[in-house]
Amino acid sequence: MNTTRRDLPATAPAAGASVTPEWAGTRSAEHPHVHDHQATPSDPALRVKALESLLVEKGLVDRAALDELIDTYEHKVGPRNGARVVARAWSDVGYKQRLLANADVAIAELGYGGMQGEHMVVVENTATIHNVVVCTLCSCYPWPVLGLPPVWYKSAPYRSRSVVDPRSVLREFGLDLGEHVEVRVWDSTAELRYLVLPERPPNTGTLSEAELASLVTRDSMIGVAKVEAKASPA
Ligand code: FE
Repeated sequence: MNTTRRDLPATAPAAGASVTPEWAGTRSAEHPHVHDHQATPSDPALRVKALESLLVEKGLVDRAALDELIDTYEHKVGPRNGARVVARAWSDVGYKQRLLANADVAIAELGYGGMQGEHMVVVENTATIHNVVVCTLCSCYPWPVLGLPPVWYKSAPYRSRSVVDPRSVLREFGLDLGEHVEVRVWDSTAELRYLVLPERPPNTGTLSEAELASLVTRDSMIGVAKVEAKASPA
């Protein structure tokens, strides 16, 4: 068990290469994750720590159980699950239809579900429609298929600007969509969490489902990137 959550919320590693806008934080060799270099934990982090200490002290929460739960979502459940869902949808038309009709049931077919994924909806990207997901209120996100949300997803600029001017936000992620592409922004909530089914890249007809899954990045399933027809770094 690492100790990151005792300090500040940690960023889950991206599934594949990604571009992160400047306002979302900085990365470097020493700090491959994104975070604010502040001297003391943020006010919300301090409040969470205080609450946790109080709940443990009163015997209402078992710290080991809490650690196990967070460890699961930080290290065991992540965007590779979503990538397998996407690869299956690309490989099996019947599965894709079930996924778009009832995501919860289709995702459960692959064994994924549970907390923060009680009601998921999959939206499909096409040559003329590009979907992007945000939670304007906070950070609602489909944990069973994507793990914990990246820091930028929770940032105020992403949450506000994605709705007002999604095209410019996407450009900052390195995704420049032509005017012929309609951009649809989906606002996730605690009741409804969206997952983007990205377009299958061209020239991938001979790839196996596992090979296809290796191409799918977390960012492509949030809608701030496309899937490229080259393998992600291992
Ligand atoms: Fe939220």
